[in-house]
Amino acid sequence: MASKIMSINAGSSSLKFQVFEMPEETLLVKGLFERIGLEEEMGFSYSLKDAKVKTTIKGKTHEEAIEFLLHFLLERNVLTSLQELAGVGHRVAHGGEDFKKSSLVDRDALQKIKVLGKLAPLHNPVNVVGIEALQKDLPDCPQVAVFDTSFHQTMEAKNYIYPLPYRFYEEDSVRRYGFHGTSHQFVASEAANCLEKPLESLKIISCHLGNGASICGIKDGKSVITSMGFTPLAGLMMGTRCGDIDPSIIPFLQNEKNLSANDMDKLMNAESGFKGITGFSSDTRDIITEAEKGNDRAKLALDMFASRVKQTIGAYAAELDGVDVLIFTAGIGENSSVIREMVCENLTFLGIELDPQMNQKNNRRISTETSKVEVLVVETNEELMIVRDTYHLI
Ligand code: ADP
Repeated sequence: MASKIMSINAGSSSLKFQVFEMPEETLLVKGLFERIGLEEEMGFSYSLKDAKVKTTIKGKTHEEAIEFLLHFLLERNVLTSLQELAGVGHRVAHGGEDFKKSSLVDRDALQKIKVLGKLAPLHNPVNVVGIEALQKDLPDCPQVAVFDTSFHQTMEAKNYIYPLPYRFYEEDSVRRYGFHGTSHQFVASEAANCLEKPLESLKIISCHLGNGASICGIKDGKSVITSMGFTPLAGLMMGTRCGDIDPSIIPFLQNEKNLSANDMDKLMNAESGFKGITGFSSDTRDIITEAEKGNDRAKLALDMFASRVKQTIGAYAAELDGVDVLIFTAGIGENSSVIREMVCENLTFLGIELDPQMNQKNNRRISTETSKVEVLVVETNEELMIVRDTYHLI
């Protein structure tokens, strides 16, 4: 039966939504509320049919955004009545060890998501605000939580326990969780479809390279290892995050510069990575432009990023005992032929050979005919994955 399903992705000052007709997977409308809570008005932009509109609306809370959204969907005939909405899927940052897959949100699940706010204090509480606001306005509509972490719950303990005293895992849940799970799972399944092979038969390395960046090693259709950790700060260098550094740098700088733990956390999350190295931007488009003009720091930042991605691919190929498919996705992965080329250079020993022309064109398959590894550019679509899971669960 045809159903309309909405995805909601609530951030601290934003709320993104998309409505799909299922099972056809037809996108009906998508949009974004931004600057929520910063002023008396918030930004509202949407695309509906051929129209792209950017405006502002009155209100300063996520609840007001959702109330406005439901009226908007009726007024623009996306829905003929609110009962037509068969389900709502929410992106939830952290599912801890409680959620190994997406889950219908009942009272017990909501309570667990709230408790997991301890592990994701900037994200889970605002995801809960989105869920509760929709529960209030649509009490009979099933809600589903889709977690950034759950795809990685298949990792073995050897890959998720940190070599700290074991009691911190038992008492404080300190372990590797990994994020971007919805994206890695989506692009892996798209890649298998594109190659017309069962997902379970492929050894896949998925590189989600956006402002936030992570890599995932996938075998038998399951996440085996991923580069983000207890938080999204770990692993690769990113737009403003430092990724992996020697942990002793943290107390050293705190002492030398008289920084608090919170100062240090902010410095590593918001002032490091591409932004920290170049000093002028976290956006790789600006950095590539400056590097081409001869800016040494921009060139260094790109070299550092590409090296870290390459080293992680090498490590994950060892972990998976080989690799059949290398996927590039997200803002940088989907658009930057320059960075893909830097990453794949000198990986012929692994069987990775890029076709320069296909790469330049952002073709879906960018490896040569003779490349042992299929190198694919796959557009990620976390919203579609959320809506698919929601459709299946309801
Ligand atoms: P987020 O993690 O915020 O979802 P995205 O996946 O949207 O991020 O990726 C944003 C990043 O993609 C930006 O840093 C931007 O520099 C990069 N990007 C987008 N288009 C290009 C391009 N043509 N060349 C290089 N980088 C690009």
